[in-house]
Amino acid sequence: MTPIMIRTLQEMQSISRHWEPGKKIGFIPTMGYLHEGHISLVKAAEAECDIIVVSIYVNPSQFGPNEDFSKYPRDLEHDLKQLSQCKVDYLFFPSDKEMYPDNYRTWVSVDGLSDVLCGKSRPGHFRGVSTIVLKLINLVHPTYMYMGLKDYQQIVVLEKMISDLHLPTIIRRCPIVRESDGLAMSSRNKYLDADERQRALSLSNSLQVVREYVAAGGSDVREAKGMMQAKIIEAEGRIDYIEIADSKTLQPVERIESGNRALVAVYFGKTRLIDNMEL
Ligand code: AMP
Repeated sequence: MTPIMIRTLQEMQSISRHWEPGKKIGFIPTMGYLHEGHISLVKAAEAECDIIVVSIYVNPSQFGPNEDFSKYPRDLEHDLKQLSQCKVDYLFFPSDKEMYPDNYRTWVSVDGLSDVLCGKSRPGHFRGVSTIVLKLINLVHPTYMYMGLKDYQQIVVLEKMISDLHLPTIIRRCPIVRESDGLAMSSRNKYLDADERQRALSLSNSLQVVREYVAAGGSDVREAKGMMQAKIIEAEGRIDYIEIADSKTLQPVERIESGNRALVAVYFGKTRLIDNMEL
């Protein structure tokens, strides 16, 4: 079905103010250029919600000055086609002008969790993410918000924000959707040329290798990170970070235990890709 398009904050508010009590409202915030990973979140919402809202908004405040904000892929027609396979009631498509008017002043930051891993190499990124997601939650009033484990740190940061600010929304963690060869789906995969696309497989391969190492009883962090590094260097990726972290605090661990998370961020050409796996 074709969702009802909502372009203004006032329209969104006048609808969400009147959600029928007891109805489950599912919300999927995205930056568009939708792929099967996004659609899996919608399908998860379909399984338990009465009303589904998807938002498409390329949030300028989560991009650094030298990042890909202006060239981030945007294609509303393509997105509407993707969504027509689903039961989405509303597509919320706000404008920069309304989200960040000239006198905009308010920011949310989740200390400690936002300055490690991706936050270290993308200063201000999670401040932008936390702020926009809080604004969207306030506009949509969702019962459940569906988010992909592909962006593991994002989920941990937003769960903390929701708990610290006593928001009534619950995050549903959804599994990473991968291409058949293992590459995690991402809107940014579009930037890869054929050679980079092939080399980018080293991301999921490096995680698989460390997962097998831990499954076989390995617990040495240096050895595990060395194995991951070797896979990526072999594929001529430029490593931003390779980490094995506690799944809640995101701090590096000294010995690997079951439930820890391996996380990687690597450049292939100019494209920075991330992936992670539970160990
Ligand atoms: P984005 O449009 O990249 O901001 O992503 C919107 C939502 O889709 C986030 O919750 C992402 O974690 C999720 N997502 C992106 N790629 C995938 C994937 N390959 N599998 C599962 N969820 C994903």
